[in-house]
Amino acid sequence: MLPSMSRTYDYFVIGAGSGGVRSARIAAGLGARVGICEDNRMGGTCVNVGCVPKKLLVYASAFAGDFEDAAGFGWTVGERSFSWPDLIAAKDAEITRLNGIYRRILRTAGVTVHDGRGVLVDAHTVRVGDELITADHILVATGGRPWVPDIPGAEHGITSDEVFSLPEQPRRVVVIGSGYIGVEFAGIFHGMGSETTMIYRAGLPLRGFDEDVRACLAEEMDKRGITMLRDTHLSCMERRADGAIDVVLEDQEVVTADLVLFATGRVPNSAGMGLEDVGVELGPRGGIEVDGSYATSVPGIWAVGDVIDKVQLTPVALAEGMGLARRLFGGVRSRVPYEIIPTAVFSQPNVGTVGLSEADARARGAVRIYKSHFRPMKHTLSGRHERTFMKIVVDDASDVVLGVHMVGPDAGEIIQGFGVALTCGATKAQFDATIGIHPTAAEEFVTMRTPEPEG
Ligand code: NDP
Repeated sequence: MLPSMSRTYDYFVIGAGSGGVRSARIAAGLGARVGICEDNRMGGTCVNVGCVPKKLLVYASAFAGDFEDAAGFGWTVGERSFSWPDLIAAKDAEITRLNGIYRRILRTAGVTVHDGRGVLVDAHTVRVGDELITADHILVATGGRPWVPDIPGAEHGITSDEVFSLPEQPRRVVVIGSGYIGVEFAGIFHGMGSETTMIYRAGLPLRGFDEDVRACLAEEMDKRGITMLRDTHLSCMERRADGAIDVVLEDQEVVTADLVLFATGRVPNSAGMGLEDVGVELGPRGGIEVDGSYATSVPGIWAVGDVIDKVQLTPVALAEGMGLARRLFGGVRSRVPYEIIPTAVFSQPNVGTVGLSEADARARGAVRIYKSHFRPMKHTLSGRHERTFMKIVVDDASDVVLGVHMVGPDAGEIIQGFGVALTCGATKAQFDATIGIHPTAAEEFVTMRTPEPEG
């Protein structure tokens, strides 16, 4: 059947994930005629197989530790059991609710939703099913997908795309990789009572984070009982007759698991949508090449979010999508502050960070470092041997705070406010002049007075 020429828009968005939906809504609010297409569930990775269900699972797994801690406060917690299927059903219901909300938000904003996969035909035309859609501007916001290393037997492992719909809780879990997803899921499975091993090739988890943060998290995960196999490389994986999986390491050691989760990074979703055919340039990992205003190599085609392979974080995709829509339809120019991106890792304990690591700051000039390592007040009674770590990195010459880092309960919540402070260019003197909130862990950030001795 020949495609039918149907709709003309000012702005057509391919991909209804975080970046695409935000950009479409803002553009429609500025008076543009906007359409969006999606061939999966509304909301993209974040809503369906990322941030949202992950956080729900983190909450679920943290109860085990809370029950233990309660005893020190006089509580006797009775018989307890955990049902993975009940948790997954509750999570699924919530995600379905959010899918509906995303669709409603778009409709209310005046954006037309086309259910189906968008394929570029030319610089101003997209085919969705048997419809040809034309638009002055086309935004590609198709996100990314998990990447798995090419080792023999890798097909026996799963990725974060499948982990949220496992029918039952695995008894023994191997997590491969120690980035965001690796440390978060090692904590989730361990908290739920699965025997958990994290296998990673580096000396410390969370490459790119401050070294002290990395070391502190590794120590706390180890203390909680997660087996941390660092500096470890994989050889292959084999399925055993009993259904379990043997993960064979380079030194021929074998770790046997019921589930192997690859958390080995994500790559842009840019294949099979006509990008190369219309002349859009891609980088070596398949990311769409864009300039500072998210323009691709083809005038009229723009790209934001994970598909540009810059920063794979939902709030960054939101900022990019919003900035682009405002620029195209509101005449407003803004810039995403890539150098100051607050971020949290929902490991247990949490990691929260904004700005430069000590190593990155030192590469720019002389710094002052302030550190605090302490037992959180709650654990004076709970008896848990967990410590909280905080660190401030300051430019010595200007006194400007370059980085704030934390490993400890609620680090993600605490660091958000410091994101505002760093965005405003706060100095250490201004931190010192800030009144603390007592008794909190966060007040430590405004009471650290003595820099670490150099060397
Ligand atoms: P990351 O890039 O964070 O980490 C990838 C991990 O896989 C690293 O430990 C890396 O090792 C390891 N790795 C890569 N290649 C290989 C290989 N060939 N063999 C063995 N190990 C390998 O990716 P994730 O999958 O954890 O997450 C993807 C992205 O999603 C994150 O970077 C983040 O941007 C985003 N995300 C954000 C979250 C949040 O905001 N809380 C939560 C989850 C994801 P090495 O360290 O040695 O390079």
